[in-house]
Amino acid sequence: MQLYNKLSAKEREALIEKAGEDRLTLSFYKYAHVGNPQLLRDHLFINWDRMDVLGRIYVAKEGINAQLSLPAKRFTEFKTFLDSISFLENVRLNIAIEQDNKSFLKLKVKVRHKIVADGLNDETFDVTNKGQHVDAVKFNALIEDPDTVLVDMRNHYESEIGHFKNAVTPDVDTFRDSLDIIEKDLRDHKEDKKLVMYCTGGIRCEKASAYYKHKGFKNVYQLEGGIIEYTRQVNEKGLENKFLGKNFVFDQRRGERISEDIIARCHQCGKPCDTHVNCANEACHLLFIQCDECAEQMENCCSAECQDIIKLPYEEQKRLRAGKKNSNKIFKKGRSPVLKFKS
Ligand SMILES: [Zn+2]
Ligand SMILES: [Zn+2]
Repeated sequence: MQLYNKLSAKEREALIEKAGEDRLTLSFYKYAHVGNPQLLRDHLFINWDRMDVLGRIYVAKEGINAQLSLPAKRFTEFKTFLDSISFLENVRLNIAIEQDNKSFLKLKVKVRHKIVADGLNDETFDVTNKGQHVDAVKFNALIEDPDTVLVDMRNHYESEIGHFKNAVTPDVDTFRDSLDIIEKDLRDHKEDKKLVMYCTGGIRCEKASAYYKHKGFKNVYQLEGGIIEYTRQVNEKGLENKFLGKNFVFDQRRGERISEDIIARCHQCGKPCDTHVNCANEACHLLFIQCDECAEQMENCCSAECQDIIKLPYEEQKRLRAGKKNSNKIFKKGRSPVLKFKS
């Protein structure tokens, strides 16, 4: 039986175009005790491959974290399948705000040590002892409270293009780093302040809130379902939207617009812009913000060096990058001395 992808991204893209059907992009996660992650992984792959699901899914002993797309017409079938797995019955699905049929081009279901790379090896705290979940209404009220400290639990390149008004946005590359920074900054306010946190879909706050409670914070709150669910509730109930700019997402879309504000700027010329791209040089692939004019002038590259490289014959480029790994650089870096306007 085929348990892995056979099609390349290009072949998949062509198939999606040919099918001409609308796809639905969504995400979900669940912390749960998974006895045999490999078995679950294979079960998911076999069934989702059959349903034409594409995406990036992590399975671990601590649960599942899934970001995917599927043909819209198969949604009911997909939901029934999820409900057939006891710990995923009625799991909340975060439906993307801006849809794109090509958000994912492969189905990758991976067994990992953890479902979020949190860098925490501290087994002494209880992950299930998490903060209070709040919905959009409660969240809007909480963040106006002068005793509240609002913290963005995401990384620098995510909060750069969008965040809540008055949020603390740690300039960090990893989740682990922001945990430490926040704890240090707020060490004298563990009892008198309300620590309110948010992330993309809520998963990082599940861990972070439990971590801070473990560290002695008394009033810990987390935005349930993250920015995605917040936006859905704001639209559905006509609430005031307190989020500025774009919500960064980890698929081909890179971001979905939540408000018309553009809070970032082009990393090359400095003008207002919040479009993330990856450098066209395969060996670089740096994630950065680039406006249309700079994209044209720089031929979609981050630097003159990369511009030179993409003009070389393909074989020569391949030879140059032999032995160098850039896997995952796509979402990890976002910092480089060649970017004049990256603050
Ligand atoms: Zn520019
Ligand atoms: Zn580059």
